[in-house]
Amino acid sequence: MKKKLSAILLSLALAASAASCGKSEGSDENTVKIAYLPITHSLAVLEEAEELEKQSGQKVELVKYGSWSELLDALNSNRVDGASVLIELAMKSKQEGIGLKAVALGHRDGNVIIVSNDIGSAADLKGKTFAIPHRQSSHNILLNDALATAGLTIDDVNVTELAPTEMPSALASGQIDGYCVAEPFGAMGVSLGAGKVLFSSEELWEDSLCCGLVLTDKFIEERPDDAKSFVTSYKSAGNALDKETAKEVAKKYLSQSDEVLDISLQWISYNDLDITKETYDTLAEKVKAYGLSDDTPAYEDFVKNDF
Ligand code: ZN
Repeated sequence: MKKKLSAILLSLALAASAASCGKSEGSDENTVKIAYLPITHSLAVLEEAEELEKQSGQKVELVKYGSWSELLDALNSNRVDGASVLIELAMKSKQEGIGLKAVALGHRDGNVIIVSNDIGSAADLKGKTFAIPHRQSSHNILLNDALATAGLTIDDVNVTELAPTEMPSALASGQIDGYCVAEPFGAMGVSLGAGKVLFSSEELWEDSLCCGLVLTDKFIEERPDDAKSFVTSYKSAGNALDKETAKEVAKKYLSQSDEVLDISLQWISYNDLDITKETYDTLAEKVKAYGLSDDTPAYEDFVKNDF
């Protein structure tokens, strides 16, 4: 019996080592490993992954995560070379001493404040429960901006953190009264008939920042040429990402219905993805004013625009 068990354990160990061997052979030195979440906010990086190999032979290995915390963990421990990530999370990591740079925006605009059908204005949100994906997010900032239009603050609502996928059903069941989160989960709430758009992000915050393409200092320092070609190609992929192409890429990676994507993709664009000092400084001011963080990294330390 003992012998049989040790034979099984040995074969399991061999299988595990064969699997890990296979993995390391699969990613060669030319590969750029990029972490993402399956949301429309990551479409520029998903589009680029397809184009880059055709154009330059450089391969992008896309690593999908189910939550921001798992993705951040991989990014902060150099298990990936970069990520499309909520910029506030990357700013927080930078403040904590993690070596990374924001090299481009993930997208422009593309967020909405979704509320239940019985809410008619921002003032009606007083005393209600509102979901955001993470305290460190532009969704939190947009909620603060929305409340400010009615003279309210974050203290006037009950804020809850929920996984994006749970928000549309939580709104439909009345567990929450509104939410703001990466797309297409806002569009999903609209498509379900659970709620409506109270504000789009550009009505509250012109040229808002949300997700950023972030690369690790390790990758930039060890492979500067790869980093340069990756970022250049990423920005041109964004410029080429019109509604039709965005939908094709989204259908391939996001497994969402046509209706949800058609609603969601109206709200977002991917052209001109440079992070300017002006827009970054506005973000940094909001992060401090709304209490997401007491301090923020300086533009010069955090943003790399000179590829
Ligand atoms: Zn975003």
